[in-house]
Amino acid sequence: MDAAARAVALEKASRFAASRHELLIGGRWSAARSGRTFDSYNPATKAKLATLAAADKADADLAVLAARAALEGPLAAQKVSERAKLLWRLADLVEGHADELAVLETLDNGKPLNEARNFDIPHAIEVIRYNAGWCTKLSGETIPLSGPGNWHAYTVREPVGVVAQIVPWNAPLAMAATKIAPALAAGCAVILKPAEQTPLTALRLGELILESGFPPGVVNIVPGFGETAGAALAAHPNVDKIAFTGSTEVGRLIARAATGNLKKVSLELGGKSPNVIFADADLERAIPGSAAAIFYNQGQSCTAGSRLFVQKNVFDRVIEGVAEETKKFKLGPGIDPANNQGPVVSKEQLDRVCGYLDSGKRDGAKAVVGGRKLDRPGYFVEPTVLVDVKPEMKVVREEIFGPVVTAIPFDSPDDVLSFANDTVYGLASAVWTRDISKAHQLAAKLKAGTVWINCYNIFDPVLPFGGYKQSGWGREMGYDAIELYTEVKSVCARI
Ligand code: NAP
Ligand code: MG
Repeated sequence: MDAAARAVALEKASRFAASRHELLIGGRWSAARSGRTFDSYNPATKAKLATLAAADKADADLAVLAARAALEGPLAAQKVSERAKLLWRLADLVEGHADELAVLETLDNGKPLNEARNFDIPHAIEVIRYNAGWCTKLSGETIPLSGPGNWHAYTVREPVGVVAQIVPWNAPLAMAATKIAPALAAGCAVILKPAEQTPLTALRLGELILESGFPPGVVNIVPGFGETAGAALAAHPNVDKIAFTGSTEVGRLIARAATGNLKKVSLELGGKSPNVIFADADLERAIPGSAAAIFYNQGQSCTAGSRLFVQKNVFDRVIEGVAEETKKFKLGPGIDPANNQGPVVSKEQLDRVCGYLDSGKRDGAKAVVGGRKLDRPGYFVEPTVLVDVKPEMKVVREEIFGPVVTAIPFDSPDDVLSFANDTVYGLASAVWTRDISKAHQLAAKLKAGTVWINCYNIFDPVLPFGGYKQSGWGREMGYDAIELYTEVKSVCARI
């Protein structure tokens, strides 16, 4: 985005942020039933960015009714080719507004503009296009029965129904698109609750959804708080499935709330991902790759490479290299394209990260680079590399969800495997080595939903993504996501 395009996008995004923000229910924008509102802030300045209608249980009820009506009305009658066309149109509209959406994301979330423009928005576009392709390709099978008699048996893949989707603040539009696209491809009706910190791009997406021509009620968007709007959706007896991305702690609440009507549940939760560098790795790549693995999005990624394991004989060299890379980061408001590290999303998040930095210091960890928050407006904390850490320290065990990596030396592949798997999480992992056998042997034994080899944070709409252990239930993206949003029906006829 050149300076002129940025100025235009900033003007559009600012105008949108300052406009009236209501709930999208049944194809129309309306105030919350309670009349309540909440504010969203720019984390780079702490300035108020927008005032928004705050949905609660009453609005969740209306959204569920609207979704049910859409499911039984227009969606039931819709041709799959029409469904595909709508998703393609939506992807084109998101692409057409990519600059504006990227700026809006940066203003609301704080992330560097180049990251928003080069990752978040393109991912949203591609995940919608990928799923548009599935609309016309979902079919069942005819199956010969094994028992005596004459039979005609087949399966059909049907939409799971009314789906509630709750997303976090770290990649707001990319997450929203990753959630709604497979659900819509499967023929479901959706209620999306964005995070209270970053509701704006989801609401702009709502406008684009209406512009695309989706029938009323197929997508409903209800910003509000987790404890009210989110909890109401998770417990709702007329919701058939809930999909959640966020903390493991809230994931547990969602799973519990879903037991009432035993709605289907999928969860994408936290992580404390191991990033393993062997001495035989191409260190020219592994070093910057490992800095990016943790500091991308200010460390606010569920897949962040937050536990760095380096083979002993190259430990000092690698840590020095990662520290040098870290010093090169330019920390400042994400809207200035010269900055490639922005603020963290909120005061709570800043306090949380600083709390972990204090705890690390108390436990004897040493920061080779970073370690402090910045004395300036906005929620800025330095990217930090901690050494002299022990496996039992809080900074090694708990998800910080901020720009802090702990580095630990290891001797052998067996040692590092037991370190790497010594966590309640299992979302992602990475191995850097030139020895392809060693890489795949380790990949087979790592307890994680994704293993990256000589790369990190590669997400593709075609590749299933999700967690082992307490990192979640189910896989999003790829065909696996379609399975989350469909029921298989077996039809068996005696003939
Ligand atoms: P969070 O507190 O779990 O919030 C996530 C979403 O859940 C928000 O929309 C939140 O609403 C809502 N929520 C909160 N309490 C709820 C409740 N009782 N019932 C229903 N919904 C509720 O997580 P966060 O602090 O925003 O995000 C950081 C966490 O998300 C990290 O732990 C990170 O690892 C995880 N994460 C995981 C993935 C993944 O794909 N595995 C991706 C991104 C983030 P409000 O914001 O309005 O309160
Ligand atoms: Mg905000």
